[in-house]
Amino acid sequence: MSFDLVVLGCGGGPDELNLSSYLFKTCQNQWCDGILSVEAGSGLGALRELLSRDPFIFEDLKVIGKDDLAEKVLDDGSPSQRAARIYSWIRTFLISHAHLDHVCGLIIGAGSTSSSSPRYIAGTETVVRDIDTVFGGQKLWPKLASRYESPASTFGFIYNSLSSFGPYHSLSPNISVLLLPITHGMVDGGTYESTAFFIRNDTTLEECLFFGDVEPDSISSYPQTLNVWRTAAPKIRDGMLSHIFLECSWTSARPIHLLFGHLSPPHILDELMALAREVVSVGRHSTRKILDSQLEGILRGVTLVIIHCKEPITPSNPESDIVDVIVGEVKKLVYPARLGVSVIGARQGMKLRF
Ligand SMILES: [Zn+2]
Ligand SMILES: [Zn+2]
Repeated sequence: MSFDLVVLGCGGGPDELNLSSYLFKTCQNQWCDGILSVEAGSGLGALRELLSRDPFIFEDLKVIGKDDLAEKVLDDGSPSQRAARIYSWIRTFLISHAHLDHVCGLIIGAGSTSSSSPRYIAGTETVVRDIDTVFGGQKLWPKLASRYESPASTFGFIYNSLSSFGPYHSLSPNISVLLLPITHGMVDGGTYESTAFFIRNDTTLEECLFFGDVEPDSISSYPQTLNVWRTAAPKIRDGMLSHIFLECSWTSARPIHLLFGHLSPPHILDELMALAREVVSVGRHSTRKILDSQLEGILRGVTLVIIHCKEPITPSNPESDIVDVIVGEVKKLVYPARLGVSVIGARQGMKLRF
């Protein structure tokens, strides 16, 4: 076992209390040693709600001798106090792209949450620059982040601009991350870039793969996901990568021209087939076409975690759970391909150990 994960939020909008935010630590570390927050859409408010519903969501909180104040707050504090304490343990917010549903909690909480150690906003230079249009302009929000450490400040953030394509960057106790660019639709002036993260436990060397928002390679004017699959393939073949977090924002009914840089179930199948072919290709010298029959069981041991499902809000919409609907559609398409992959949906408040 390598990772503990609490899903603080996993929706693709519009519910502001359930936006992309995933709290990671290694199994070898405790939450108070430092948390890596991958994305920061939902923040303190969502954490308070989670703790109200399930006070033991961080059940293995062991802070004795490490954080005396936390020990008291976690025993006797209100959900708000407990949320603030746990939130203060986030050392680094790692952001795939600066869309508001991925940074909202971080921005809103920036001036209110304090910490005795420096806290970082990490991402590609593009992400840092985009986030700094909020903090640096000082009109949307005060200057609560900078590129340099200020000894006087105990709140606010320091930017950590990371290179893509390696090396692995050490971001949290025992966790290093490799960043690869992916494409998330078009904006004026070209394609809009997002990021995929290979998150590595530095002790066990096991990894998981987390995708920011991403469009299908099959329709992209700048397809980059295949490169991510190529990087993942040898790790999967060697049994060192078991969990892939991949967005599926829409149901199958969504037409291609309305994907807006996101995936739907048929495209999940395409992408998994591309991954499976890459795994078969590892160390293979033949140029002969790979047959579908060669892909059988090739992704056994891999769990695909569907994230970022967009909740439709229409008066006529029945009360069906969108995650159930989308995951059901993905399974129906993917399982007959017999790749061996398991498909599950992320839920707010879900805990995973893998
Ligand atoms: Zn998003
Ligand atoms: Zn986005």
